[in-house]
Amino acid sequence: MLEATKQTFHTPTPVLPSFDYIKPATPQEATRLLLKSDGQARLFMGGTDVFVRMRDGFITPKILIDVKHLPGMTQVEFGKRKGLIVGAAVDMNSLARHPAVVEHYPLLAEALHSVASYQLRTRATMGGNLCNASPAADTAPAALVLEAMMVLHGRRGERCVPISEFFLGPGKSAIKPGEFLLRIEIPPAPKGSMGRYIKLGRNAIGDLSIVGVAVLGYPAKKSKSGYCFRIALASVAPAPIRVPEAEAILAGAPLTPDVVGAAATAAMETARPIDDVRSSAAYRKAMVKNLTRRAVQSVVDNLRNA
Ligand SMILES: Cc1cc2nc3c(=O)[nH]c(=O)nc-3n(C[C@H](O)[C@H](O)[C@H](O)COP(=O)(O)OP(=O)(O)OC[C@H]3O[C@@H](n4cnc5c(N)ncnc54)[C@H](O)[C@@H]3O)c2cc1C
Repeated sequence: MLEATKQTFHTPTPVLPSFDYIKPATPQEATRLLLKSDGQARLFMGGTDVFVRMRDGFITPKILIDVKHLPGMTQVEFGKRKGLIVGAAVDMNSLARHPAVVEHYPLLAEALHSVASYQLRTRATMGGNLCNASPAADTAPAALVLEAMMVLHGRRGERCVPISEFFLGPGKSAIKPGEFLLRIEIPPAPKGSMGRYIKLGRNAIGDLSIVGVAVLGYPAKKSKSGYCFRIALASVAPAPIRVPEAEAILAGAPLTPDVVGAAATAAMETARPIDDVRSSAAYRKAMVKNLTRRAVQSVVDNLRNA
């Protein structure tokens, strides 16, 4: 019995294992180091995933590469035409209170505020949250409905990957050997858009999501409902996902409570959750329906009252 317990539970080591810290002078040098390290090097931004996983013995990088000082990494820029540009190393608190985010991307601010605690968000970055490629990443659904672009640096220079192609599975992203994230580019939000992110965790704050639902809606003359919607989910599939079936239902008919309910059911049917320490799959499915209906209805009400 005791032996079984030993095998089942991981005992965290109270200290970090030793590692070399390298601060490359240029993006090219960072890429060279990553390629040379043969998988032994790891990048970090806020380190809130990396250091915890090192302490707990899940990863053992020999080298940590710090690229936070490289040009643009800690900058936020906004232009009405180009949209929002977020350096990979911008901490979540700075991003959430940036005037452009507050005014033009309130959905993103809501998603950022849902992550852990104020203290953690002082270190944690949106870049790290997305590159970690956790199915539960709270900024991922917002990035998906805002149709963000991940700009990577690699051996051939810069490469852009749409967020819809970035997540490949739990902990797996489209980042290739030698590549790292420079910035996230978020196009201007559609005119008149309203958004909501609703997260369900085991605690009111400070926990990873059991389910996360982001909804973005905006007026669209050609749509039968008069609106278009984008919906994305966290924690209910091997990667964060969009739910086009639910989006199509909301564009296809006037937005009665039955239509909103049908879209919520479609989202639930698209979800492929697993049982884990935070929730059963069955509960997750039920909550996808519940939270999608709430989030969509809230966006519909705000669009009608705008
Ligand atoms: C107590 C606690 C509570 C948490 N609660 C939440 C929560 O509510 N919601 C949530 O979503 N997350 C939560 N997390 C997880 C974590 O805080 C977030 O994922 C955070 O956003 C990670 O950002 P970071 O900058 O600290 O990433 P880091 O730890 O620095 O890096 C994360 C991953 O991305 C890679 N990486 C970092 N920078 C780059 C780059 N430039 N290019 C390519 N790869 C890179 C790293 O190698 C690593 O694999 C929690 C963590 C803790 C410890």
